[in-house]
Amino acid sequence: MERTPLIAGNWKMHHGISATGKFLSELEMRISRDAGAKKALEGDFIEMAIFPPFTSLWRALEGKRYLPWLKVGAQNVHWAPEGAFTGEVSANMLREAGCDYVIIGHSERRQLFGETDEQVRRKLDAAVSAGLLAVLCVGETLQEREAGETMAVVERQLMKALVGLPPDEVGRSVCIAYEPVWAIGTGRNATPGEAQEVCQAIRRFVAERFGDEAAMVQRILYGGSVKTDNAAGLLSEPDVDGALVGGASLQADSFAQILAAAL
Ligand code: PEP
Repeated sequence: MERTPLIAGNWKMHHGISATGKFLSELEMRISRDAGAKKALEGDFIEMAIFPPFTSLWRALEGKRYLPWLKVGAQNVHWAPEGAFTGEVSANMLREAGCDYVIIGHSERRQLFGETDEQVRRKLDAAVSAGLLAVLCVGETLQEREAGETMAVVERQLMKALVGLPPDEVGRSVCIAYEPVWAIGTGRNATPGEAQEVCQAIRRFVAERFGDEAAMVQRILYGGSVKTDNAAGLLSEPDVDGALVGGASLQADSFAQILAAAL
């Protein structure tokens, strides 16, 4: 079965409302000049998603009026449907706002905000129940890689996050993003071989735990210093179904070039 590649841009805490509007205009211009990309996006042969900060979401969603193929997602979600959780936003609220996707368990949330595997699981459950597609981030630190613990770490994160989901939801509603922590924002990407090795092992893990069907449709992204000059190599690997892009997703031109590399 074919898996639709996903090129996702995690803007982190960048691009307010006016910068988001500028990005969208530039993206529209850039894609209208690239007949191949336009056709692929309009025909759903590939997906492009952006994940702006909360305050810019409405502006990105408004962009769907002239970029109907554009997917929009949030960078975080709370697990409760509502309640006394100052500063948080629920999955139903994101869905109501028009979001398609949500990123869950990004390493910056795990490391800087103390997000635990258990919280990641609850967020994932809430997102999937609300009908959002989740981009679940997993990945090892440099120390863990050097200790030969990459797959143990990745499998633990996956197991703890996915444990409660029905097998058909795993492949259908969750994109797994393999993001080695040492490659995020460092300019040091995994080689295509390193990315493929872990993404292939993730697919094997999904097959063992959730069945061949789930593994076959499971989209697995690579993230960590994906740039215009390394995207084609990483995206040509058979188990890499797309990219989660930070820095290079902030400019419409480089983001569109990464999409073109996936085609
Ligand atoms: C990310 O934030 O998920 C990421 C991969 O960032 P960068 O591409 O900048 O390394």
